[in-house]
Amino acid sequence: MRLVLLGAPGAGKGTQAVFLKERHNLAHISTGDIFRQNLKDATPLGLEAKKYMDAGQLVPDEVVMKMVGETLSKFKPDEGFMLDGFPRTVKQAEFLEGLTKIDGVIMFKVPDEAIVKRLTSRATCKSCGNVTNINEHSVCPSCGGELYRRDDDNEATIRSRLKVFHEQTEALVEFYRSRGLLIEIDATGMPEEVFSRVVETLEHD
Ligand code: AMP
Repeated sequence: MRLVLLGAPGAGKGTQAVFLKERHNLAHISTGDIFRQNLKDATPLGLEAKKYMDAGQLVPDEVVMKMVGETLSKFKPDEGFMLDGFPRTVKQAEFLEGLTKIDGVIMFKVPDEAIVKRLTSRATCKSCGNVTNINEHSVCPSCGGELYRRDDDNEATIRSRLKVFHEQTEALVEFYRSRGLLIEIDATGMPEEVFSRVVETLEHD
């Protein structure tokens, strides 16, 4: 199974990907994570991407498409994966269509104000990558590791990421609906509740 996870920043794509990975044994490909790893390793790709990430803007299509093309070329035809954070523009979606067949596109729907609230309190564990709420935990609730906040999780950058989402990424809802691939999920509430909606829809449709 090859899925695309679609949704605004903070809609819970990464969290749901962890659940889906466990249940369906799918590789999790997050373009944001690949950029952050490159930045940590100070590669030219990471340094180029940083300019855009810090401003809450999209990294240029050509750069992202090249990176995704290289990543997906390592997968055998029968290997499943989830794309988290890609595609984000119609151009990227067309590029993906030329690369591989996608079985479903899950759109996680959350109102903007709930997103701002989630992201201004989002923290990630340095050791295990678990995503949690900084107001509720001072260390990682699953492994006790140190928590950090993403540089782009400040209110000004969150607002511009949301604007970019509405201006460029939301068009993909129609793109995939017209291809009969769209699965819309109410992504408000606790992650476990959202996941049970995903399972119900994916496995019973
Ligand atoms: P994310 O972790 O998915 O929220 O991505 C963090 C940042 O990485 C985004 O705000 C963009 O600057 C960049 N990025 C990630 N994926 C893409 C993509 N498909 N197209 C353009 N920029 C991306």
